[in-house]
Amino acid sequence: MRSRWDEREAAAFEGDLGVRVYSSRLLGAERSLVLHGGGNTSVKTDEADAFGEPQPLLYVKGSGSDLATIDASGFTPVRLPPVARLASLPALSDARMVSELAIQITRPGAAAPSVETILHAILPYKFVDHTHADAVLTVTNSVGGEARAHEIYGDDVVYVPYVMPGFDLARECARRFAKDATARTIGMLLLNHGMFSFGDDARTSYERMIQLVSRAERALARARAWSLPRPRAGRAREPIGTRIAALRGALARAAGRPMIVTSSRTPSEIAFIRRDDLATIATQGPVTPDHVIRTKRLPMLGRDVEAYGRTYEQSFRKHARRLPGLTMLDPAPRVILDGTLGLCAAGASVRDAGIVLDIYRQTIDVILRATALGGYRALDERSLFAVEYWDLEQAKLRKGGAPPRFQGEIALVTGAASGIGRACVDALLARGAAVVGLDLDRKVVDVSSKAEFLGLPCDVRRPQSLSEALERTAERFGGLDMAVLNAGIFAASRTIAELDSPEWRRTMAVNLDANLDLLRLVHPYLKQAPRGGRVVVIGSKNVPAPGPAAAAYSASKAALTQLARVAALEWGGDGIRVNVIHPNAVFDTAIWTDEVLRTRAARYGMSVEDYKRNNVLRVSVESRDVAEMAAEMCGPLFAKTTGAQVPVDGGNERVI
Ligand code: ZN
Repeated sequence: MRSRWDEREAAAFEGDLGVRVYSSRLLGAERSLVLHGGGNTSVKTDEADAFGEPQPLLYVKGSGSDLATIDASGFTPVRLPPVARLASLPALSDARMVSELAIQITRPGAAAPSVETILHAILPYKFVDHTHADAVLTVTNSVGGEARAHEIYGDDVVYVPYVMPGFDLARECARRFAKDATARTIGMLLLNHGMFSFGDDARTSYERMIQLVSRAERALARARAWSLPRPRAGRAREPIGTRIAALRGALARAAGRPMIVTSSRTPSEIAFIRRDDLATIATQGPVTPDHVIRTKRLPMLGRDVEAYGRTYEQSFRKHARRLPGLTMLDPAPRVILDGTLGLCAAGASVRDAGIVLDIYRQTIDVILRATALGGYRALDERSLFAVEYWDLEQAKLRKGGAPPRFQGEIALVTGAASGIGRACVDALLARGAAVVGLDLDRKVVDVSSKAEFLGLPCDVRRPQSLSEALERTAERFGGLDMAVLNAGIFAASRTIAELDSPEWRRTMAVNLDANLDLLRLVHPYLKQAPRGGRVVVIGSKNVPAPGPAAAAYSASKAALTQLARVAALEWGGDGIRVNVIHPNAVFDTAIWTDEVLRTRAARYGMSVEDYKRNNVLRVSVESRDVAEMAAEMCGPLFAKTTGAQVPVDGGNERVI
């Protein structure tokens, strides 16, 4: 590992806290050092209080910050002397520790300081850096790891056996440091947990961390346990979409709520999953204890979610006997290793599933290297249970609040690059859904930059394109709960006398035929939707009240509406609801070019402005209005409604 320190860059950061921000980001930039909020850093400094008296403070990473992107506000200032003194107490409960730390915060509104704050406070150095470096964990999580660590580091570091993070760890570290630290000491190795480095300036502390990690890397290289084989891609991958959806259905039953499932099948991952010794090497436990919160202790091998749940419950019962009053977390696995489905990561949200995937990819590398070193050994089951059911983590879960309505659910929207489709994407994202947008227009990929959005250029007239899009949807998010059938075309106004067959067929192909294909293809997915599948069809006012010179459009939307009604009848038994919206005069859509608008207004003998508000309520109807209705139709308000047709048109005399 090379140092990323750059004196010129560092000079741009002012003061102790500034340079602390700089070197924290350097650590954060190295994914093999810290992953998703792992690791923490601190600086000790004096600041004048309101009376001008210097006050010794410890700035330590606050919870919820990520080292890669941290800024000064991500560090929480606490009064140093009383916090350091806490380590001299014989015991302190977690709850009391949290409140004692909160009392010492000197900036109102600052995030709770790291649970490792006391540990930072007791180390007698200005700068303290802490990472969960892969290479270090690979060494300590292998057979004979502690002895190997001594060979690598000698007396350059203080060794601390595994102790649960929090007060007990801080106290044990204080004790070991007082006993074992020498003039040579540049770090502290926490077995099965990670590395601390320290120094009186930011660069020294940072460079020591890089040096300590590099020594572990070199030792692994010498033992031929560093370079991993990178298998090449095998034969073409088979479609797995509906099987992932079935797995997701089972996970939702175990978890009691829908989940996002992301599948990855790189050649390396498949090679790992198909190893003969997978059942041994993948069932030891996580690389570092705090991963247990994200991944649970063990991945599920194969797809028997019920069996996994039973084993999880037995393990909970066994360990909970010593810790009464605990509530069991849901027994759904978060990591699934399956020879066909690949590495699947499950989480309550897209973000959670992404974190699980990143963590397990790192875990695979550590397991493979430790195996090459002589065998992977994780922390024991009992210690990991203590972290998974730690008071502080349980409290976080308890106060989580209600998630957004569609969190963990997935929606597909056709014609998503503009107009009503694009507004539907926004309305569904705003309600917490993961959304896949399809459109012929390639700019659909840029409709949203959120991780919850996947834009796929797709010609809905081609069933092959549609099934590929659904396959991608299942791989990325795990299945499908909602489909908004919006893609449609409106050809230039033409009377029947002028209408030619190719134009008629082109309209029917997009507005009708493509939707038949899509409905047929989404049905197996929607059947697996944990809360029941939902389809919203964007029809048209022209269905109940057609106008002249729009025969192809009106006929196609009428046939589409009839198709939706039949789907409602056929799919009710599968718990799938199908409803239709009939918008009218939504002028902020791609269909309504200025030319079309002028022609239509002229056809009714009106100005464009009057034509826009030509409804009973005298309101202009916008894409957003239709999208809000579509999103609500997918929600609990319409839980007992199927086969309905709802106008969003400002009121139309001919429809009323
Ligand atoms: Zn740590």
